[in-house]
Amino acid sequence: MAVDDELEFIEMLKEYFELRGYEIHVASKAVQGIELINNKNPDIAILDLKMPGISGDEILGLLKSKQPKTKVIFVTAFDDAGKTKARMLNAGAYAYLDKPLNSLKVLEDVISKAYSGKSLKEDL
Ligand SMILES: [Mg+2]
Repeated sequence: MAVDDELEFIEMLKEYFELRGYEIHVASKAVQGIELINNKNPDIAILDLKMPGISGDEILGLLKSKQPKTKVIFVTAFDDAGKTKARMLNAGAYAYLDKPLNSLKVLEDVISKAYSGKSLKEDL
């Protein structure tokens, strides 16, 4: 599942991953995102960091306490010289990618790796 307040981005994600056979649910509002977490128990959560209502940071905390098996991948334009990235990875995020992505293939590769159960660092 993906939560991002940038509607165009999540629509693009939905189309891309559905075409490739993934089941993907998207939300552009924090409340809907929380509903998806509670109802769908997603394997993977693609999160934006800065959103009105709730931050990706808070969603990560929620997932870690309620559904620790869900792997969290941040895709965000927020950049503070890597400080937040380090903090999120420390807090248990699986990956932290910078927006804009060069291509969705980059994200797809990270997702395949997450499904394989490997740590991102193992093959890099
Ligand atoms: Mg945003």
